[in-house]
Amino acid sequence: MRRLAHFLILMVGLPLVAGFNIPSLPLPTPPLPSQAQKAAEVVTKTGTKAVQAARPLSEAEEYYLGRAVAARLLARYPLYRNPEATLYVNQVGLAVARKSSRPNPFRGYHFAVLDTLEPNAFACPGGLILVTRGLIRMCGSEDELAAVLAHEVAHVAHKDGLNSISQARWSEVLTTAGTEAARQYGGGVAGAVLNLFKGAVEDVFRTLVVTGYSRQAEEAADREAVSMLSRTGYQPGALAAVLGKMSGGGGGIFRTHPPTGERLARVRALTRESPPGPKEKVRTERFQRVKF
Ligand SMILES: [Zn+2]
Repeated sequence: MRRLAHFLILMVGLPLVAGFNIPSLPLPTPPLPSQAQKAAEVVTKTGTKAVQAARPLSEAEEYYLGRAVAARLLARYPLYRNPEATLYVNQVGLAVARKSSRPNPFRGYHFAVLDTLEPNAFACPGGLILVTRGLIRMCGSEDELAAVLAHEVAHVAHKDGLNSISQARWSEVLTTAGTEAARQYGGGVAGAVLNLFKGAVEDVFRTLVVTGYSRQAEEAADREAVSMLSRTGYQPGALAAVLGKMSGGGGGIFRTHPPTGERLARVRALTRESPPGPKEKVRTERFQRVKF
């Protein structure tokens, strides 16, 4: 709750509180949707606070939003409490994440396993990645697990979760936070911004669980995942291998990351199939020793 309070303070553009002194990072941020841009122009005239509220989310705010999304997912799927499995997934995930286009998000990447046999994976904004036992079981090797995790890291790197916050919501944030209108809501500025925060969490949650990302976002995540795999020393063909296993259809990840024939062909075209080498055998044995 204290963290949420920090988020709200940042959202309305008040000075940073003690112990939360994060320098603004020079990372590129996605452009605002045009509707939000117009709203930003309107609120610019109302004062400094509004201007600050109109800027894109900072890395710290993205992190706290991602934590709230992860909390919603954990209310739905329990955590798989197996320290050996959790450590292993973090080692594999961090190895590929280091080779991503965004290797150092605020507070870094963290990976956790969900205790369900439904195959699924979720990339929460800021770098919390949740993957189910069902999906890990579908992978036959460490290289395929690395492929799944690399794809999810790419969604975080590209801020695809944040981009799913609706345009209407952005406009609302921009026109409400920091203006006199906010004080007329029941809870004052904090109450209004709290509702907008809940709405943003809901938008991201729905994208992760129900609707999925755009086809373009999936293509970009596949492309970067293949590059991450080869730069880490994993078999780049592992992504096509795991997508091939998902082609049966069904719920969970089949719905949110549809492995269509067209997509599979595109990923196959990025990589060449090669027979497993001795290092890959060692990794696969290591993978098989962990109980998922
Ligand atoms: Zn995806």
